[in-house]
Amino acid sequence: MSGSTEFIDFVNFNFTTCNMDACFAAFDKDCDGKLNLEEFRTLCCALFRNNKGETYKVESDVLLSIFEIFDQNSDGNIDREEFVFCWNNWIKTIVRPVSAALIIDVQNDFISGTLNITNCPAKHNGADVIQPINNLVEVVDFETVVYSYDWHPSDHVSFIDNVSLRKLHESSPITTENTKVYDTVVFDRDPPMVQKLWPRHCVQNTWGSELHKDLKVVENAIKIYKGTNPDVDSYSLFWDNQKLTDTKLNSLLKQKNVTDLYLCGVAYDVCVASTAKDAITSGYRTVLLDDCCRGVDLLDIEKVKTFIRESHGVIVESDQVKDMVEGNDRRPELGYKLALELKHNRQ
Ligand SMILES: [Zn+2]
Repeated sequence: MSGSTEFIDFVNFNFTTCNMDACFAAFDKDCDGKLNLEEFRTLCCALFRNNKGETYKVESDVLLSIFEIFDQNSDGNIDREEFVFCWNNWIKTIVRPVSAALIIDVQNDFISGTLNITNCPAKHNGADVIQPINNLVEVVDFETVVYSYDWHPSDHVSFIDNVSLRKLHESSPITTENTKVYDTVVFDRDPPMVQKLWPRHCVQNTWGSELHKDLKVVENAIKIYKGTNPDVDSYSLFWDNQKLTDTKLNSLLKQKNVTDLYLCGVAYDVCVASTAKDAITSGYRTVLLDDCCRGVDLLDIEKVKTFIRESHGVIVESDQVKDMVEGNDRRPELGYKLALELKHNRQ
């Protein structure tokens, strides 16, 4: 090589301080005014790295899939115009994500009250989430923090002691007289409504529905109250279980331009799981904080994790969040999710 060749350390290429033109020029190694697949691969090596500057491996098929999303005219190159879209909608978000924490149902009844998850098969202790969540909101500068409340009226459909208030459908596997707590019944609705029966819990304005006293609640947080309709249960922070009413969470997050959601709380395999599914469907880059979640059933928790990984979400420990929120730890799974979302929105 000639001595005049400028050495550029691509892995340490600084996306936060350079502008689009500098970025394009740096990775257009052959200076032909467009990025081929190899040049784009080098860009991705620099983009997807951890806080120590180590590159995450991106599988070839994933890399090609992302490349094809940005090579809109499918000519085998990302030209200048295509790169403008890629820079504004993809790279910028990966480098400077806008992150929200969703702190789900850290309420007395789930920790030491009537639906104490210690009594559930996984034998988890809900109180274990409090310290890592407090630490998280103290250390990490989220754009917004959301606290949710399971918030039921006294005649709520999910309570075992209310089962006789409503007619069961003929397809229900269990009759009213024979129901036990945690059974699943089918209520006579159009369409018939499947419902798991829980102990009475989180009744509005009672001790059981309060957030645990040791949970730190940050100023200006968003509060979401769910399960307020007596006839419908609501696990997700986005929608009730029948998708009849949305909680406005999505529009509140969109107003703040939130791109990334960090989920934690109880119960891992119920309300955290449902919220995670809706978060992914709604297009968010979704991260589960494993050490900040406790659940009901170990097998169901494993199913949640599998679903998240298959949906291009990630599962991390809470001490990894700060670097991710600050854009210093950039995960390829979340980059792929965003690229797929951009493709979906273009169609
Ligand atoms: Zn509930």
